[in-house]
Amino acid sequence: MKLFAIFGNPVSHSKSPLMHNLSFKGLNYDACYARYRLKDGEKLKETFFDLGLKGINITVPHKEHAYIACDVLDPFAQKVGAVNTIVEKEGKLYGYNTDAPGFLKAISEFKEVKTVLFLGAGGTAQSTSSILHDEGYTVTILNRSSGRLERYKKEGFETYTFEDFNPSVYDLVINMTSAGLEDDSLPAPKEILDIVIPKAKACIDVIYGKETPFLKLAKSYRKPTKDGSDMLLYQGIIAFEYFTEYQYTFDEIKPIMEKAFLL
Ligand code: NDP
Repeated sequence: MKLFAIFGNPVSHSKSPLMHNLSFKGLNYDACYARYRLKDGEKLKETFFDLGLKGINITVPHKEHAYIACDVLDPFAQKVGAVNTIVEKEGKLYGYNTDAPGFLKAISEFKEVKTVLFLGAGGTAQSTSSILHDEGYTVTILNRSSGRLERYKKEGFETYTFEDFNPSVYDLVINMTSAGLEDDSLPAPKEILDIVIPKAKACIDVIYGKETPFLKLAKSYRKPTKDGSDMLLYQGIIAFEYFTEYQYTFDEIKPIMEKAFLL
């Protein structure tokens, strides 16, 4: 039996064990998926081999450690510097980023979208902005503080803080921050959101499993909304494809893995 796990700290909240175990069982794949609270990211590789794992997902705060631990990197993971999926093959660790393609697929239901406003500039915004840019979207980044914006500026994105924001019209407004995850805060001052939301075609939050103040506000403007559940599901399906070396198609995995969201 092959053994898989999710590494993170904290990791107790993660849905990944349920998603992957349901899929292994449903597809009769002889494997099991556990969770492991990794305190020291520098011990990622050592822990992986000590536990005899075949593959892992990596969540906060270890995606950069995972990137460093890999022997071989998929070109996109290499570009964004963050790995959330590792597979072992012949003693070598192969690293991938499935968050960004998962996100891309999740927003693909919104048609005729060209311009996107990201609220937030953290790790998730980094990989997802990169894939959207590669796909031809124009992404503007608005963040609370200026520090994280430097990298985006160098990559050619239009960037603002709340103080110097010069709003335009954006087809999608997306909360990429953790505002609303464990508190009742909005990702940007309400005066700013009251300008950009009414002009948007839809609003998305990467937080899942709850209605955040951001999504509540978007709904009050009668905008179509979407939370982060599909992003989570799709990154999981893409990781599962890597884990099982493409023995199953996306459409075979999806109806099984999505049952994890009903339990
Ligand atoms: P990071 O810690 O890397 O970045 C956090 C970002 O949020 C920063 O830009 C920070 O701004 C901003 N921020 C935090 N709190 C507030 C606030 N109260 N008001 C305004 N801005 C705030 O986080 P991640 O990129 O790793 O994660 C972001 C979100 O994405 C989380 O909520 C996480 O749960 C979610 N996520 C969802 C996934 C899914 O599958 N659905 C997958 C991965 C992540 P500053 O620079 O000023 O500090």
